Amino acid sequence: MQGAQLNAYRFSTESGNQYIFDNVSGMVIPCPDDVYYLITHFNDHEKNDIIGELKTTYNHKDAGGSYGYIETLIRNGFFYKDPSKRTSPVINEHTVLHTPSSALILIATEKCNLRCKYCVYSDSYPLIKSYSNKHMTFDVARKAIDYYMELHKERVKSGFKKAPAIVFYGGEPLMELGLIKQVVDYCRAKDPKTVFYITTNGTLIDDEFIRLAIENSIMVTVSLDGNEYEHDRKRVFKNGKGTFNQIIKNLTDFQTEKQKQGLEQIITFNSCYDSFTDICQVVDFFEEKRDMFSPFSVFLGEINPFYTNYYDDLDDLYSRGLLETDRNSLTNSMSKIRARFLDDIINDKTPSSTMYSIFLGLFFLKNRAKGIQPILNNSCIPTSKLSVDPDGRFYVCERVNQQFSIGDIDRGIDFDKVNRLVNEYVSLLHENCGTCGFSRLCEVCFMHFVRDNELVFNQEFCEKRRTTIPKILEMVYSTLEANPRAFDNLLDYSFHEAYEVLIK
Ligand code: SF4
Ligand code: SF4
Repeated sequence: MQGAQLNAYRFSTESGNQYIFDNVSGMVIPCPDDVYYLITHFNDHEKNDIIGELKTTYNHKDAGGSYGYIETLIRNGFFYKDPSKRTSPVINEHTVLHTPSSALILIATEKCNLRCKYCVYSDSYPLIKSYSNKHMTFDVARKAIDYYMELHKERVKSGFKKAPAIVFYGGEPLMELGLIKQVVDYCRAKDPKTVFYITTNGTLIDDEFIRLAIENSIMVTVSLDGNEYEHDRKRVFKNGKGTFNQIIKNLTDFQTEKQKQGLEQIITFNSCYDSFTDICQVVDFFEEKRDMFSPFSVFLGEINPFYTNYYDDLDDLYSRGLLETDRNSLTNSMSKIRARFLDDIINDKTPSSTMYSIFLGLFFLKNRAKGIQPILNNSCIPTSKLSVDPDGRFYVCERVNQQFSIGDIDRGIDFDKVNRLVNEYVSLLHENCGTCGFSRLCEVCFMHFVRDNELVFNQEFCEKRRTTIPKILEMVYSTLEANPRAFDNLLDYSFHEAYEVLIK
């Protein structure tokens, strides 16, 4: 136990009951003051002193029994860990062949026909480079696919079960429909089981793409921020005009064609919100459109608040009276929707899938609390996804596609670069997160540390998680006190396969 430090977090529910989250095992146990005293003093006090204190100060009737219970847990590795132990995994060919997922993400173009206010390529994110006219040639795509398919074949020999997955990303990938068609044909010829995904702004969905998507079961993700006001204040054409009506028209054509053919091809929506969003209106919008969109799923995500002036610009718009909502809209509407959600699950009613998507974090929280904590925390293993830019350079992720190249289509994965990146990341985790009492619940990954061309610990992100994770723990366990089965359905909730591929 030498050098071991407490690695746990104590919290209370609304009813005042106290629990401790053991960050080492992921377990939560009731933790009144006497148990907390026992756990926190176990390593630096004698057994008899602790038992004596439990009897006198805490009036404990079975101090010896409680001591034995906590002793068993601690001897089995619970609650304490040695923060000085730092291990960095080595990524090599073997790791690459044994990653739990596999996808090739083609950045088909860095061009876009829109100028969304929160786009990472826009002036709102000064540290990230801007739009460019670069697009991927078929030659680059072909080499990337050849490399990936070979890798995939080896993965399959090592027991990997899933089909190869190709993701079209941008800029706006539908500006390169010709390339997409060539890629689909090429991949089909190489492996007919290949699955395709595309993330699009939806404005360029036309009959030609609809045919292609239907014939090849392409999983389509459309960025749609909710109702017309909410969407159009953020997602606009280059001339500043909102894109909502164009997208709805295109989606109507797409969905009508699928329904005509009796297809159950799911569509996914990426919906982004900021502090001025009325999330109730967003949920109601998707629910009202249920007949038209079904089957569909929605992923709601906060617009990246780090290293950006997007939120300052919003404040400016608000002060000039140009926004219909105020900066408390999100907080207020989130409380309402949370109350609706909790009321449903406490009373064994099934909340709408859109509501579920807001609280998806709970699902991940449940999952992260299980099993052995990965060395990279919750970051995916570099090389499980390979993102390729129009110049043929490989990156760890489509969201970190301009910094930290880890190889290219001619030379393949550069393991020295991958391991340098991993080491840097692990050392930031070690320095900053080593004693965090709920690090296994935090979704920190490479993406959060990327600043310009270096990895830097993101203090702002950390502070945010340190505020929200305890609130989530409190909410989850207050709910479980009211209904121990409340979250059971979350595990059955069927997730769109695209997301499964993209998250890890
Ligand atoms: S559609 Fe995507 S790439 Fe284009 S401006 Fe909007 S956020 Fe940026
Ligand atoms: S980023 Fe902050 S909250 Fe997240 S694991 Fe690290 S220290 Fe904990």
